[in-house]
Amino acid sequence: MKGVVVIGDHRIELREVDKPEPQHNQVLVRAVQAGVCGSDVHPYRAEPRATNPGLVQGHELVGVVDALGPGAEHLQVGDRVFVYLGYGCFHCEQCASGYPNLCLDRRDQGKMDRYQKGYSIVREEMALSIPESMSFGDALMLTCAGGTAWSALDKVRPTCHDSVVIFGLGPVGLMGVMWAKAMGAHVIGVEVIPERLELARQVGVDALLNPQEEDIVAGIRALTGGEGATVGYESSGNKAAQAAMLDVTSRQARIVYVAGGAPGAVIDPSPFGQWGKLALRTICGTVTYALTDWYPMTRTILRHGLKPEQIITHRFPIEQADEAYALTETGRCGKVVLEWPWP
Ligand SMILES: [Zn+2]
Ligand SMILES: [Zn+2]
Repeated sequence: MKGVVVIGDHRIELREVDKPEPQHNQVLVRAVQAGVCGSDVHPYRAEPRATNPGLVQGHELVGVVDALGPGAEHLQVGDRVFVYLGYGCFHCEQCASGYPNLCLDRRDQGKMDRYQKGYSIVREEMALSIPESMSFGDALMLTCAGGTAWSALDKVRPTCHDSVVIFGLGPVGLMGVMWAKAMGAHVIGVEVIPERLELARQVGVDALLNPQEEDIVAGIRALTGGEGATVGYESSGNKAAQAAMLDVTSRQARIVYVAGGAPGAVIDPSPFGQWGKLALRTICGTVTYALTDWYPMTRTILRHGLKPEQIITHRFPIEQADEAYALTETGRCGKVVLEWPWP
């Protein structure tokens, strides 16, 4: 089978990989969809590295259990599964509290092939059964973007009396819109790419602003009775947007910084001046999500009838992975996935 290896300098290669054998407590997952992420684009865009280990890229996978290793006893061959994105040791404090992605002894990064290939080995605990009424596409959206958005909002807890401003409407921003609407909040999206503005309309955003066409500080204040948004969600990674968060939110706002981006944004915490720039705001960061977030996310999707799959705009066979990467880099799309025929 073929696997996607990112070379850099806008090149990928399809490497021939052996179908692996599941070992103790592992299952073999036959891929149905593997997502291409904004974070996969970083090494794709970068200079080729002399140390490139030639490993298969990817951390977003849904599929079907194809074989069980010895000791794997909770899943069955044929089960439809969501796969968690990080392979930890499953013994340390991070792993035990649901965050194998934050494990200091990550087993996968730089050490093993990841998920952009036809079959992948995962530890049984990392593969969770997809409810019957949920599509592979819905589950794929939770493997990275949806989980990251969920975990970010869990830190700032929007409710029916909040106005949430979301900067950047890529898949993580769009999932933020979808979740925040389900939580009952009023949601304002900020984005420049037309395709993404349209997707935000489709997932139910209440108001949209394009900073290339209008003053977003005045626009957001006008939409929030002059106060500013009570919740800020920064998923653009843009330095100007990162710094502007304090200007578009209310003095007691909760703000979560979700996206990375180039270093150098300035947030002014000065306590002087007119009650200070920071005032009573709470600011926090967030990194991906906990394995245990799968359960409240799936309950929310089923109870509210959400369709995260609508954010998937492009599907490619692995032979066209170069097109999938080039499109993801443009940002003129929602989620882009590699897809294998099923059943
Ligand atoms: Zn991702
Ligand atoms: Zn661990």
